[in-house]
Amino acid sequence: MKCAYHPDRDATARCSQCKKPLCDECAIPEGGKSFICSRCAALKAARDVVEGIDQRIGEKEGKKQEQELRKKWKSKIWVVSQLFIIAVCIAIIVIQVPRLVSTFEDEKPIRYGTHSTDARTDQCIKNLWHISKLLQEGKLPGKDIICPASKIPYVVTETEGDVVVRSPKPELYGFTEIRVSKKRPVPELIR
Ligand SMILES: [Zn+2]
Ligand SMILES: [Zn+2]
Repeated sequence: MKCAYHPDRDATARCSQCKKPLCDECAIPEGGKSFICSRCAALKAARDVVEGIDQRIGEKEGKKQEQELRKKWKSKIWVVSQLFIIAVCIAIIVIQVPRLVSTFEDEKPIRYGTHSTDARTDQCIKNLWHISKLLQEGKLPGKDIICPASKIPYVVTETEGDVVVRSPKPELYGFTEIRVSKKRPVPELIR
């Protein structure tokens, strides 16, 4: 058998890749008893280089993807935390707004303590709020403000440094005293 590359020379080996017969000069030892031709060796080397590049590109892309994934996660966490903060703010506003509104509402009858009051008592408390406002302005309630249960004006007691205004008949509402004063501007209902 002659060498595939040198038709005048006898083949002494065979290429492990293309199986072509090779002379001593053409047979490149691969280790052990295996030989390879120069063409296949070049192809193999080229393939190895390409594979190496592919691998490196793959690693780089893997890292890139990992970084992008991390970035995405970071941005997601950021968005979620922002949404959470916004939600908390909205919750606080929703909870606080009725309170704020109630502080601005004028002369609103209150249900003092744990006493449950009826509509007539509420009207009386509303009157006391109005009187409280007058007292704070340094005025006294006129006779036109009438206790709704007894149909008579409120009792005004001026003491040193204070003015107390009482319902004339608190017992009609089921209380021993219903009052407001300059010093204590929140109407009080005492059982
Ligand atoms: Zn070969
Ligand atoms: Zn040869």
